[in-house]
Amino acid sequence: MDIEICAVSGYEEVGKNMTAVRINDEVIILDMGIDVSILAQQESEEGNIRVLSTQQLIDLGAVPDDNKISEWKSKVKAIVLGHCHLDHISSVQFLAAKYKCQIIGSPYTIEVLRESLHDEKVMLPNKLTKVELDSKIKISNNITVELIRVTHSTMQCAIIALHTPDGVLLYGNDFKFDNNPILGPKTNYQRLKELGDSGKVLSLITESMYAHRPGHTPDEAVAKEMLSKVLLENNFEDKAIFVTMFSSHITRITTAIELGRKIKRKIVILGRSMGKYIESAERAHIAHITEKVQLCKFGNERKNMLREIEANRGKYLVICTGGQGEPGSILDKIVNKALPFNFKDHDAVIFSCSTIPQPINMANRERLEKILLANKVQIFTNIHVSGHGSHDDIKEFITMVKPKHVIPSQGERFKLDIVVKMCEDMGYKFNKTVHIIKNGERLKID
Ligand SMILES: [Zn+2]
Repeated sequence: MDIEICAVSGYEEVGKNMTAVRINDEVIILDMGIDVSILAQQESEEGNIRVLSTQQLIDLGAVPDDNKISEWKSKVKAIVLGHCHLDHISSVQFLAAKYKCQIIGSPYTIEVLRESLHDEKVMLPNKLTKVELDSKIKISNNITVELIRVTHSTMQCAIIALHTPDGVLLYGNDFKFDNNPILGPKTNYQRLKELGDSGKVLSLITESMYAHRPGHTPDEAVAKEMLSKVLLENNFEDKAIFVTMFSSHITRITTAIELGRKIKRKIVILGRSMGKYIESAERAHIAHITEKVQLCKFGNERKNMLREIEANRGKYLVICTGGQGEPGSILDKIVNKALPFNFKDHDAVIFSCSTIPQPINMANRERLEKILLANKVQIFTNIHVSGHGSHDDIKEFITMVKPKHVIPSQGERFKLDIVVKMCEDMGYKFNKTVHIIKNGERLKID
């Protein structure tokens, strides 16, 4: 078979993931993500991005440049999404319609995508196909797609396997190996080992975001311990408690709910984005959250709730967005007086997230913290563990699936170089069996 991988986007940076794989005259697209930081910057400076054309968004660097595969356009048989993070699915609304094919993902990924398209008022001609994790869907005589369960920082994430008559191509973007997940099963190691032992894995595309971090990424249970310490070992009597996290982090949300109830607080979840991921999780039968909390997604409902919290601040624990200091988030609106709540002396804001290390995020977050500190709010930062594999996790992944070729992705060059070095130590040869491909470049796999 004639197999070629095109690194459309996400091979020189973190985010904006998109890869195309050509198998003879058929092409599968893996992920269609967005650059969240560029998008946020554009929205804060210029307002609604929907006034821009897709080409303008590509030129800005927010959307992958799929002109790189323009001559493959009619050959695309499926778009497969690994999980529901914005840097993996959010360019679907701009790019997918031109490919006359179905979009495949786990039930949760498809639910979130459907909800996002609805929010953006985008109607796509593409069929949305839910495929259960650890199962397969036949695309053609030569291609079968398998979604293999893997742990990460949202639900129902998959390592994508493309089965061809010549072997299997694996796409592991993103993953961590959590052996004690709080919500949902752990990674399907058995299947990964089975593929490795079969000797049929032609190539592995692996994320490299934390290749520079030594050791293994701690389990999510460690984040629970950290949050538990803050909430149970401090006296927040009569003080407001806000816990902020990524709205797609369903596990962390359930943890905050459990701990909040332990300290006898009523749980309030604020914001449209939180609502989207939570309701999608309920539709995908992952977690039942709304029965335990007051979910206030919109305008007056949100304002009335905040007035109630202002008056009875010791009764509630609020879960909301804003950990990046991002404009338009709940915390941002509160500190900018766009919502009726005033932080007071010794109220608590717990950042159960990391700051995405991009200048705009760092600046936004710094500004937010300054205002909170000026109001004498107690701030707890980095109550968090990552959803991305570290150096030894990537090594374990490669050891498990024994690919003939390794292609590091999703990281700046120095991170890709670390994966190359790791592979060389394992016997791979640079440019022969371990490869760095830049955005837009192609690599033949034999
Ligand atoms: Zn992710």
